[in-house]
Amino acid sequence: MAEPMRADDVAVVGGGIVGCALAAFLAEGGAGVTLYERSGIAAGASGRNSGIVQHPMDELLAPLFHETVGHYRDLAEFGFALPDEPAGLLVLSADEDLIDAELALIGDDFPELGVERLAAGEPHRLEPVVAPDLAGARVATGYAVPPAEATHAFLRRAEAAGAKVVLEPAGADAAADTVVLAAGPWTPGLADPSGAWRPIEPLWGVNVEIHLPAPPRHAVEEAGIDAVLAEGGGEDGLFSLVTAQGVSSLGSTFLPDEPDPEERAPQLKQRGSRFVPALADAEIVSVRTCARPHSVDGRPLLGRRGDVVIAAGHSAWGISLGPASARLVADLVLGREPAIPPELDAARFA
Ligand SMILES: Cc1cc2nc3c(=O)[nH]c(=O)nc-3n(C[C@H](O)[C@H](O)[C@H](O)COP(=O)(O)OP(=O)(O)OC[C@H]3O[C@@H](n4cnc5c(N)ncnc54)[C@H](O)[C@@H]3O)c2cc1C
Repeated sequence: MAEPMRADDVAVVGGGIVGCALAAFLAEGGAGVTLYERSGIAAGASGRNSGIVQHPMDELLAPLFHETVGHYRDLAEFGFALPDEPAGLLVLSADEDLIDAELALIGDDFPELGVERLAAGEPHRLEPVVAPDLAGARVATGYAVPPAEATHAFLRRAEAAGAKVVLEPAGADAAADTVVLAAGPWTPGLADPSGAWRPIEPLWGVNVEIHLPAPPRHAVEEAGIDAVLAEGGGEDGLFSLVTAQGVSSLGSTFLPDEPDPEERAPQLKQRGSRFVPALADAEIVSVRTCARPHSVDGRPLLGRRGDVVIAAGHSAWGISLGPASARLVADLVLGREPAIPPELDAARFA
């Protein structure tokens, strides 16, 4: 377990969900905080994600999710409202074996998820917009939120506690007692400009904001995300559809190189229409692209590496876990008894 440290003057590099939550927790803990962001708050994945706060179905990460839900409840006074109840997640496939494989991965470890297996046709009965031939599983998780809102609310909270925001790039050499790198997929490049240390890679996602007159109440997604993430991405994306406050987000790709979003948008619509046929005729409102900070083992990297502190690598789960990770890292920097599990410690990648 990492030893406590104590810093009064902290530079946080990166204005995404992790950096903004860190700035809030550090400033509230009494540190002098400067948050550096090179382009705009929530300019990366934290402003362009699918917008679902979702259980990660990983024993080690589940406590971070539960804690994050609590942090979001505390953001009400800063203008962020987490829905009272999760919308529920429908995992869909025409291949029942794939659904069983997904359920086997979840196992019996999370009774709170109330997982229900749905035979072919049942998802359609629950959500008439879903294609009639699909089987699936219903999981009691998934709070749908506008993608950038939590990050902006944490920023307001950080500023209310005295954090200063500088819209300029910074790096490991920022002037401060302690530098925390929370720069998403760009973190390894800042920690080690030589390029030798690369435990986090970008995994690019395109999301389409789409107008559906009667969107599903559940968040819906194609089965198979664990396999795609374990392989570090793939050429064919995976369908997902999340609707928050009447705006639907259709996803997504998992690509190692930055894609042309305009080229990918029709492909996403076409893939999505196999699951929700109404998508074929739906109007595209806008297209956005961003990179997941995907770590080699799929889990975040938190804690010290040499002279800096790392808070990055949340891959597809940063909105669901990032604030709790930020709290762990803030405790380390503030000299409180650190509780970063070794499996999440940045030091696991030498
Ligand atoms: C298509 C897609 C959909 C997703 N959907 C979901 C979802 O529904 N639920 C979920 O939980 N997660 C989702 N994710 C994952 C989630 O969005 C990310 O894990 C999370 O946003 C990462 O947050 P972050 O703060 O670590 O990094 P980022 O949001 O990438 O923020 C890093 C910031 O650092 C800045 N920066 C970089 N270099 C510098 C520098 N030198 N100086 C200053 N600033 C710098 C960048 O401009 C950026 O703003 C999705 C991701 C993608 C791509």
